[in-house]
Amino acid sequence: MEYATEHYHTDLFMALINNNARGHPVLTALLYVFCPMAAKWWLNGADPVVPYDVVWEAISDFTTELTLKDALVKRGVPDLVGHVKKYYEQVTKFRSNHCYDYPASELSQGFKGETIEVTARTGYQDSFDKHFGGDWRNVLRFSRTWLFTTQDWRGGVGVEADKGYAIQKVIVLLNVPRLNKGLIRWPAWCWRIKDGHALRIVLGMMTYDNLQDQFRFALAASSQSYLIEVIEDGKVKQKVIPWEVTPHLYSMDRLYGSVRPARLYDTEKLVLTIPQLAEAARKGACPPLGALFQRGNCEHCGFQALCFTKDGDLTSIVYTSIKDDAKIFDGKFV
Ligand code: SF4
Repeated sequence: MEYATEHYHTDLFMALINNNARGHPVLTALLYVFCPMAAKWWLNGADPVVPYDVVWEAISDFTTELTLKDALVKRGVPDLVGHVKKYYEQVTKFRSNHCYDYPASELSQGFKGETIEVTARTGYQDSFDKHFGGDWRNVLRFSRTWLFTTQDWRGGVGVEADKGYAIQKVIVLLNVPRLNKGLIRWPAWCWRIKDGHALRIVLGMMTYDNLQDQFRFALAASSQSYLIEVIEDGKVKQKVIPWEVTPHLYSMDRLYGSVRPARLYDTEKLVLTIPQLAEAARKGACPPLGALFQRGNCEHCGFQALCFTKDGDLTSIVYTSIKDDAKIFDGKFV
């Protein structure tokens, strides 16, 4: 069964909490295009809460040494491993019977295998709350990402299953030329494919329906280096490594597992507008566009608790913010 993946921006909120760079123009501009009010919260000192994201959780574990069984045990549901195996077999069979109909056919209404019997789930609510966003279905979604979506992405970017490759989490370093600010650490996913002596690097960033937000992709396309962790003298150290070859940049659809090469405006011009956009945010042109226009963004926004009351109404501070911002804009367009 299909599930909501449209409005997740987990890498953005991860970057906010993993960079000690409040007010950095790159993060400010990326937040501003997500929702101006989010930029305002952050510039005013609020820290986001990174929302639960089952696809992100799954690929984060997938790129470690863990097996799926290890990951499920680690997340407190060891007795559901057999149910996941059954789910895997059912999806595989369903896919082989419907492979020409549509991609990820198990998401269609016709697939009835997304279930774990009530008796098998009983007693696991604590684990579901702690590791699966409170919903037992996320055990299967986690497993589906691990078993199928990662393979769909791999095939989509042209990596053959039997060729030597590695998929890894990578911290891409983002920057704006001549900005004279620190580099921003941005989490993404990377395939390194060796073909003889040739190396191909595919850099993937998650999206919904392969909609590619221009700033994030333009910054990644302009990246010169990435960060790795190495152990030296028994200590974990971070090392900046220049890209060995220019990465091929792709979007990775979170739900259907499709991919698309990045299609960007003029990357150089776009990136150079980032400081100006960040300046607009700093000056206070920050309406709550998420709430007013793209409510779905609010559902997985790290600042949701600041914008909404428990009853789902906007907080008074949001109304006040709109009024205050309006007073700032008494200029003219000529
Ligand atoms: S909760 Fe909605 S309105 Fe508030 S900052 Fe987030 S996206 Fe914007």
